Amino acid sequence: MNLQPYAAYDTKTIGRLHKEDASPLRNEFQRDRDRIIHSTSFRRLQYKTQVFVNHEGDMFRSRLTHSIEVAQISRGIARTLGCHEDLAEAIALAHDLGHTPFGHAGQDALNSCMKGYGGFEHNLQSLRVVDYLESRYADFDGLNLTYETREGILKHCSKKNAIHLGELGKRFINNTSPSLEAQIVNLADEIAYCHHDLDDGFRSQIIDFEQLQDLALFSATAQAVKKKYKHIEPEKLMHESIRRMMYGIINDVCQTSLKKIEEIKPNSINAVRAHQIIITFSPSILDAMMKLKNFSRQYIYRHPKIEQMTLTAKQTIERLFNYFINDIERLPPNFRKNKNDKAERIIADYIAGMTDRYALELAIKIK
Ligand code: MG
Repeated sequence: MNLQPYAAYDTKTIGRLHKEDASPLRNEFQRDRDRIIHSTSFRRLQYKTQVFVNHEGDMFRSRLTHSIEVAQISRGIARTLGCHEDLAEAIALAHDLGHTPFGHAGQDALNSCMKGYGGFEHNLQSLRVVDYLESRYADFDGLNLTYETREGILKHCSKKNAIHLGELGKRFINNTSPSLEAQIVNLADEIAYCHHDLDDGFRSQIIDFEQLQDLALFSATAQAVKKKYKHIEPEKLMHESIRRMMYGIINDVCQTSLKKIEEIKPNSINAVRAHQIIITFSPSILDAMMKLKNFSRQYIYRHPKIEQMTLTAKQTIERLFNYFINDIERLPPNFRKNKNDKAERIIADYIAGMTDRYALELAIKIK
């Protein structure tokens, strides 16, 4: 790894909540990544919806495949910029661990159930999973990850919640920045979902090729592909266009960010943290990304098929929440063990950890 001075250094980590001896085989961030991969929450991502319900078909993205795509994009950008690839990978693989079943619809439903009990934020929940809810190690609760990985996992946080997070929450109060590796993962996440949702939307026939012509960047890219391959099949045309568009945007992030780094010359990770966000799109690509997101919102996320899922998610989460709130003894015994948390929070933790199908099946069973 060709680490630049502004990168995160595994040898200079701020450290773990519980002190541990160094591993003879792996650096600290590799160790974080491995713990994430071996966690229960990570395996459950396989059966959690990204946008399309996990039940609807095997070819759509789940949160697991989404996270792997984010990790792949993050590593590539980190390598180009001389940042720590292993840290970027660890953050990417963990970034969605706190997501509820049924994608954003599930998160919104659980958040409204938790109104008056501190609410529910999936980012904060991801941190809660790695700091506390995973229960595997003899010496501590959680995965005991390094500060840098935890910093990256906590992408957003309200000021109200940040106050309780000590050092980790300070940047949301002081408006400072996280490491470049964390910034890379934030954009890699956007790049990944913007493109794979188009792909899944196309394959599920929610959107068609004609509609996509509204997107200038897509239509220009598709034109270039058609010009080169005159008799290309529609599926290949679609994939080639998405793949090229994605490559162009990743390249844009790298070039734009390298230029900024050159101007700012941050000489350490602390200089990065003290500065405004450095990893960015160029203005024209930022505009294209906004249009891409608006397109998805309009034609995919608000499609009747997807809206139906939103409704099912809401009903399912509410039913489960009420079922457990009426009698907390209905929770599995290992979930009731923690007396420090209020009942509502323990129930939210339990529901958030469910896969789509488990939540659906349980909601039918208790009806
Ligand atoms: Mg994500």
